[in-house]
This record gives sequence, C-alpha cells and structure tokens, in this order.
Amino acid sequence: MDDEFRKELFREELRKKNKGKKSVSCKYRPKYPVSAEREYLRMVNEYMAIEREILMKYIPEIKQILNEGTRYHVDSKKENEEKRKIARFSVIDNTIVRLTILFKTIKRELDAAFGLYDLKRQINKIANLDHKLTIREWKKAVGKTLGINLLDDYYSGDYYGEMLEKWVSDNVELIKTVPGQSLEKMKELVYQNYMKGSTTTDIVKEIQRQYGMSKRHAKLIARDQTAKLNADITESQQRDAGVSRYKWSGVMDQRERRSHRELEGRIISWDNPPDVGGGRCCHPGQDYQCRCCAIPVFDIDTLDLPV
Ligand SMILES: [Zn+2]
Repeated sequence: MDDEFRKELFREELRKKNKGKKSVSCKYRPKYPVSAEREYLRMVNEYMAIEREILMKYIPEIKQILNEGTRYHVDSKKENEEKRKIARFSVIDNTIVRLTILFKTIKRELDAAFGLYDLKRQINKIANLDHKLTIREWKKAVGKTLGINLLDDYYSGDYYGEMLEKWVSDNVELIKTVPGQSLEKMKELVYQNYMKGSTTTDIVKEIQRQYGMSKRHAKLIARDQTAKLNADITESQQRDAGVSRYKWSGVMDQRERRSHRELEGRIISWDNPPDVGGGRCCHPGQDYQCRCCAIPVFDIDTLDLPV
C-alpha cells in the first residue's frame, strides 16, 4: 500500500471517529522540559563555581594591595599639603599598577581553568535531553489524541541535528563569555571604588555583588535557552506533522505576563505569531522567560504523520 494512500485512509478513519469534524483538539498538554532546565542550571552552578574559587584565592591579595594603597591617606594627614598630594599620587599609581598586574594573573588563571572545562560537551548533553523530553511529550500528545505510536527515530533526522548543533554553539558562546565579562566589570569596580576612597571591605563586597549578578545572568540564559529550544523543536514537530495551528496555553500563575495571559486559549497560526507586547511577535516559549505552551490543533485534512 502506498504511503499517501495509507495516510488518506487514516484521515478518513479520523473523520468518522470525530463525526465529520474537521479538527481534533489535543487531549494532552505537553509538559515543560523541567529536568533539562534543572540540568542546565546545575551546569551553570558548576561552571560559575570555577570563577568563584579563583576569585576567593585572590581576594586576600586584592585586600592587601588596597590596604597598602589606602593606609597612606591616614599616615599622610600630618604632612604638608603639597608633599601629601605628590605622595598620594604615587601611592595611587602604584596601587593601580599592582591591581592591573594582579587582574591579568587572575584572567590567565580563569582562562586556563575554563580551558579544561568541556563546556560544549555539557551543553550538548542538555540539548539532547531537551530534545528527548520534547519528543516524549509530542508522542504523548499524538498518542493520546490520535492513537498513533510515533517512532523515536522520526525526529532524529538531519534537520533536527542541525537545529541542535546551532543551539549548542550559540549557548557555548553565551555562557563562555560570562566569566570574562564578569572579571572585567569587577576590575572596573575595584578601580572606581578605590579612586573614590571606598574602604577595602566595601570594595570586596562590590566584587562579591558583581559575581552574584553574573551568576544570576548565567542562570537567566539557562532558563531562557531551555525554553527557546523546546519552543523551536515543538514548532518543527507540529509543522512537520501538518499542524498549522495551535492553542496558546500559559501557566497562569503570578509570574505570567498580562500580554501572555490575554492570549490564553486563543487559536494561533504557526505562520502568524501574535503580538506579545511592544510590537514583538512570537510563539509560546520564544519570548523572554516565557513558559507558555503551544497545544497542537490537529486539522484532519492536512495531517501528515507516518502511519
Ligand atoms: Zn508566556
């Protein structure tokens, strides 16, 4: 029996089962790939811990340089104004030079430590997990609604391979740049605060605060990118199956944006992403930190599944 003929028979059967209705609504809400997100966050923690460890090692040295550089402010008060000024400049100069050298050393050590971390392999594992989970949910949606048992290898073709590869290399770039940028900002903060006359304790606090910010940034990337990959795979799976429309479905909790809430339950075409505010148009999971989901609408006439 030829492939197209078999598909048509299947559509005919579906029409009968659904009493002539043109579309079948999905009986299952695909779940978010929570464990892929968790795995990504775990990796980010591990990755950022490398930076923290190196920073901790150098904090005493940073403190020492700063203390020696500020001590003079106190000692010099007794001397005359002119002498004090000149001496102070030379102390500042010397402190900045010492800090610059130290930050170069830290940078070298960071680069060496991160060079040993196989970021690409880790991110690849996350991509495969996200892919696997998204396929599992799609198979459940198709199975529970249409009674078809899809084979796993249907979604392991070149197209998905390329999509995953692109995601992996984008994510390696996104995560790789975080520690270097973070160190660069720390250096700026140390210089600025030192020049301002902040205390050593306050300067160390600034370094810690900056580290915390960078770590949070890396975690945001992890959450955002997990959702994005899930969204992209979902769109491809549905389009591949001849599904051209979906029902927008949000988590409907307090974190959900109003503009997304307003889309709840709306039937949307994959060719026409809705406005999610500020003129941005996108599908569920493609907007920043969006956890909404696209529930497929199975239009019987266009369905194209391996049956
Ligand atoms: Zn959303």
